[in-house]
Amino acid sequence: MELSPTQQLAQALVRIPSVTPDDMGCQDLIKDVLKPLGFTCLTLEDSGTTNLLATHGHGSPFILFLGHTDVVPTGDKATWDHDPFCGDIYDYDNEPCLYGRGSADMKGGDAAMIMALRDYVKANPHHHGTLALLVTSNEEGDAAGGVPFVVDYMKAHRLIPEFCIVGEPSCDDYFGDQIKNGRRGDLNATIILKGIQGHVAQPEYCDNAAHKAARFIAAMLDNPIDHGSEFFPPTSFQVSNMKCGTGADNVVPGTCQLRCNWRYNDMQSKESIEKHVEEILKRLKIEHEISWQVDGLPFLTKDGELLNAMSNAITKVLGKAPSLGTKGGTSDGRFIAPLGAQTIEFGPLSSSIHQVNEHVSLKNLDELKQIFEKTIGTLIEENRKF
Ligand SMILES: [Zn+2]
Repeated sequence: MELSPTQQLAQALVRIPSVTPDDMGCQDLIKDVLKPLGFTCLTLEDSGTTNLLATHGHGSPFILFLGHTDVVPTGDKATWDHDPFCGDIYDYDNEPCLYGRGSADMKGGDAAMIMALRDYVKANPHHHGTLALLVTSNEEGDAAGGVPFVVDYMKAHRLIPEFCIVGEPSCDDYFGDQIKNGRRGDLNATIILKGIQGHVAQPEYCDNAAHKAARFIAAMLDNPIDHGSEFFPPTSFQVSNMKCGTGADNVVPGTCQLRCNWRYNDMQSKESIEKHVEEILKRLKIEHEISWQVDGLPFLTKDGELLNAMSNAITKVLGKAPSLGTKGGTSDGRFIAPLGAQTIEFGPLSSSIHQVNEHVSLKNLDELKQIFEKTIGTLIEENRKF
């Protein structure tokens, strides 16, 4: 079957096995599309991560498209129906789909963003404002040398976006059902609970740290820190890892180490969660040590021109208005939102991401490109400064 330019670019990207944090030449393909149209293409490398920042035009409004060229590992290739990097077309739910690791997360979205920028600039070479694309090869990993590194560069060069569109998969049940207008924060902590080691047959001389952990976890689950806000679900608490015991059957453990995670909403901060945990440990009289690590701050775009422009574009192209949501994992949008940019995510269905047999509907990719192009048009027209 004949593929559209957006579908062809998505296919070419999927055929490159750019497992995080290796770009493997994806960004060269993107440069080949944007450079001939006059985009300034800057490659910024750090810590083994490759980033491409492409800009066109100058001044306000500054619209940034944000994406990533890396993909998560395939796992055992034998569990896939086809080669995970074949980029061939197969039917899913009677719809032709681009198949392969990264097709939905997020090379399909990348291709739609890039082709929307290309076509808008082709038709409007002297547009107002700045159109930009930032793609990194380290979104799926720890982001070292990735978007935070480029954000420092952008700050130093006064490249401050007013609008940021992240083409990550955002839809749950059908294409177009949801714009993500915020993301929860991500906080981790290592908590060491302290007791007294001893012989299991002499509990009077011991204080079992595993039992303390059980009481702590139960208290955390019984006392949720909040019940959610207008835009966010309740803050979640999960124990992700637990280390305890000497391996012997006759020794009571003296310490228990927990690794805990919070995905927190706009009602909380690191400080408020810290306070909540300290209060519970104090009430339970458990001696402890804690080290905290913030992995992402929450962000929220309640309303504004970007949400309006994107919602209208989705309604025009797909015939139905999207809802807003904030659940799911975090994204690199969390590094751009603090610059003051209205930041939202919209992209394909997320149901197959990070799974075997990942795929994305070809039709949705063309629709996504149209939605992005319409959104650019609206934002530039509305913000025209005479
Ligand atoms: Zn992604």
